[in-house]
Amino acid sequence: MKSIVIIGSGLGGLICGYILSKEGFEVTILEKHHKFGGNLQTFKRDGVNFDTGMHYVGSLDKGQVLYKFFNYFDFLGKIKYRRLDEDGFDRIFIKDNEYSYAMGHSNYIHTASQYFPEHHKSIKAYINKIKEVVNNIDLYNLREVKSKKINDFSTYNEKVYDFITSLTSDIRLQNYFSALNYLYSGEKEKSLMYVHSLINNHYIESSYRFVDGSQQVADVFVENIKKNGGKVLKNKEVKEFIFNENKTLKAVKTKSGEQFYADYFISNMHPSNTMCLVPDDMIRKSYKKRLMRLPNTISPFTVYVVLKDKSIEYMNYNYCYYGIDDVWGVDNYSKTWPPFLGMYPLADSIDKKYTRGFSLMTYMDYNELKPWKNTSVENRGEDYKEFKMEKAQKVLDIIEKRFPGIKSKIKSFYTSSPLTLRDYTGSKNGSMYGIIRDYNNLNESFILPRTKISNLYLTGQNLNLHGMLGVSIGALLTCAEFTGLNYLIRKINKKHD
Ligand SMILES: Cc1cc2nc3c(=O)[nH]c(=O)nc-3n(C[C@H](O)[C@H](O)[C@H](O)COP(=O)(O)OP(=O)(O)OC[C@H]3O[C@@H](n4cnc5c(N)ncnc54)[C@H](O)[C@@H]3O)c2cc1C
Repeated sequence: MKSIVIIGSGLGGLICGYILSKEGFEVTILEKHHKFGGNLQTFKRDGVNFDTGMHYVGSLDKGQVLYKFFNYFDFLGKIKYRRLDEDGFDRIFIKDNEYSYAMGHSNYIHTASQYFPEHHKSIKAYINKIKEVVNNIDLYNLREVKSKKINDFSTYNEKVYDFITSLTSDIRLQNYFSALNYLYSGEKEKSLMYVHSLINNHYIESSYRFVDGSQQVADVFVENIKKNGGKVLKNKEVKEFIFNENKTLKAVKTKSGEQFYADYFISNMHPSNTMCLVPDDMIRKSYKKRLMRLPNTISPFTVYVVLKDKSIEYMNYNYCYYGIDDVWGVDNYSKTWPPFLGMYPLADSIDKKYTRGFSLMTYMDYNELKPWKNTSVENRGEDYKEFKMEKAQKVLDIIEKRFPGIKSKIKSFYTSSPLTLRDYTGSKNGSMYGIIRDYNNLNESFILPRTKISNLYLTGQNLNLHGMLGVSIGALLTCAEFTGLNYLIRKINKKHD
């Protein structure tokens, strides 16, 4: 039996662990934290569970692509999730107007046309195009892949901003089409058509939030991997790679000095952090340099709010506020901070009628945190706490404006900064979605699972795309290196039949 060590128990690491243990490999996952899941982790404050990096997921109606994955992962009946409002899963405030996004393509067209009756044709054209893009990518439909260039979406490498502005010159409608761009940290001059289409279509097909948080996803994976005979170990931070004479990887060494030997290794760490562990004489320098200097998406600042008992009725939708007129105005965000705010009310199994808390997420420039760059969790000092408190107040003031009286219903609140994300998941500079997929730098935007070390592979959000679906597809590509891709696709579809 061939052995595989996986470094990191983020979504990508867990999916690889699940698939490969099911396929008869001897799998060991090493996680540096005391909790599994990376961005799937939840934490509890005042009895309320908060998500850290998985607020909602899409395409989970029966027969849709994530449903097929969940079925194959043996999640059905084990993971609790709730379908968001059909007629408004996301509600967005831009420039004095509030808009809803409806689930289902025709429902979306119908709802959008009520705001923009004169643009019905453009709205239809928009939906038809994003559907066409998604439909043409075999992998995202779990169809067997014919081309060897499986990660090549070249037909859809145009700038999404160009596409949207070609549909309409009405800035209000452009904003409407583009407003979910914070789901991929969109930038006018960089963001790609296929990224926009995959993500928007994903949520338009159907949107769900996890009940009691996304930690359950990690926990069920761990349980299932163990059932398959795999090992999942916490408090095992990998600090060193040990090589054979032929420059293949022999073992990894943890902080406490333990060594784990295997035939193959998969890193769920950021590619740049992975390369930090590879000495220069073991790999082509240009390759290592390339992975280490890839630019990353922006980082988040989040306020986690615990509400007083039964003070606000449950909101079965997400709410987003834009403080800037142009939703692509991220470049100017430091002038108006926060530039936007995503509000994610929690779904809770204890109280279905009321919301017990919500997260408020926005962007934060990593450079603002320079004074505390060399500090670690819980040891950043009083000035850091003051900095975060000042930012949190700005965030809460905005939400008070949108929901007057809400501040008086807050029982307590907590914050996380890009440093929190950096230190909990190893994400580069606290980057939210990993490496940027950039129109101007397409070659650098695709990372393959295979590395220049013949038995070391990569997985996770940096590979293909971030998010529940993007990372699942990426992990499929990693596992395909061991099993073949179409073989896995057939298995996932068969489980569904
Ligand atoms: C604020 C925020 C909100 C988001 N919201 C959504 C959402 O609503 N829907 C959605 O689909 N996606 C969302 N995402 C994206 C999604 O969470 C990620 O794309 C995905 O979880 C990343 O998975 P990953 O496999 O890359 O691993 P990560 O989550 O990055 O985990 C990597 C793991 O490796 C471990 N590790 C790192 N270094 C070592 C080491 N040296 N030794 C051992 N272990 C190590 C880390 O501790 C961690 O557990 C959000 C992300 C953020 C940050």
